[in-house]
Amino acid sequence: MTPSFSSYLVNHPFGDPGLYVEIKWARRALLFDLGQNEALGPTRLLRAGDIFVSHTHMDHFIGFDRILRVALGRGKALRLFGPPGLIANVTGKLQGYTWNLVDGYPLTIEVHEFHVHEIRSATFLASEGFEPRGAAPRSRSNTAVFSVLEDPMFTVQAMALNHRIPSFGYALQEQFHINVNKEKLRAEGLPVGSWLKELKQHLWQGQPDDFRFTATLFFEHRREEREFQLAEARDRFVTITRGQKIAYVVDARYDDENEAKIVDLAREADIFYCEAPYLDRDADKARERYHLTARQAGLMARKAGVRTLVVFHFSPRYTGMGDLIVKEAMEAFAGA
Ligand SMILES: [Zn+2]
Ligand SMILES: [Zn+2]
Repeated sequence: MTPSFSSYLVNHPFGDPGLYVEIKWARRALLFDLGQNEALGPTRLLRAGDIFVSHTHMDHFIGFDRILRVALGRGKALRLFGPPGLIANVTGKLQGYTWNLVDGYPLTIEVHEFHVHEIRSATFLASEGFEPRGAAPRSRSNTAVFSVLEDPMFTVQAMALNHRIPSFGYALQEQFHINVNKEKLRAEGLPVGSWLKELKQHLWQGQPDDFRFTATLFFEHRREEREFQLAEARDRFVTITRGQKIAYVVDARYDDENEAKIVDLAREADIFYCEAPYLDRDADKARERYHLTARQAGLMARKAGVRTLVVFHFSPRYTGMGDLIVKEAMEAFAGA
């Protein structure tokens, strides 16, 4: 099975936190947090049109300038999602520069900030010198976990955690996974190719069983247009399985409420990226600073039944001791 998402941390675990998730087939990526991001080249950075910010402490937001610079002049639409105050933060960043020569630039930045009952939005256009344009707020569900982006293929959910300010954890969930059965294609003499991408799109869009589509098949020496019925193509060429889930949690205190929320958000994730700035011997310090310890990350990953745990956002006080942090987290995760 080829997973639809491939994910990796933007920096090493002592560097600024950030997670990059590539969506296969789509030439599209999602970025969680905007710390230092030089490690992502311009091509990768440009692919990340949707950016989810946990909170705007400097180590989670200083990379905004770089993405702004890379995207400027390239006809990009950037969407940022994050905590209350994000619109003001973006406004402040944009007001830090002079914009008299960018009116021909097609960059648009949309910002969505999560409040308890609603999502407030603003748009900034390069062609208007990035003067903020407000939009009517959308109401949101009152549940602790709420949906912030819905795509036919996946959803992104958010949850506010206590970091003395709200720090948002996120879960990315593929609706369902479509595996193409290449053996069957071969047996029927059909080629692989972009028509399979179209088939997947129709399935993700929830088209009805009797939906018909015409696909262009590229054989070795010829091309052929062929009509398929969706249900028939689905039953013959693909297998549908559970979708992939990735959870991302940073900067949160270990208390009963946060624990219950994090376990809920990360439940049965394939990969759970969780901060682990402190060793458990410094749990008091972690609590004071509204952060987790490695052991706490491991315990929550275990409770949530995740498949893989990745810890990061290590405090510089442990420089050279990264393996100790990982060991502590993994022991708690394994129930040792
Ligand atoms: Zn923070
Ligand atoms: Zn942080």
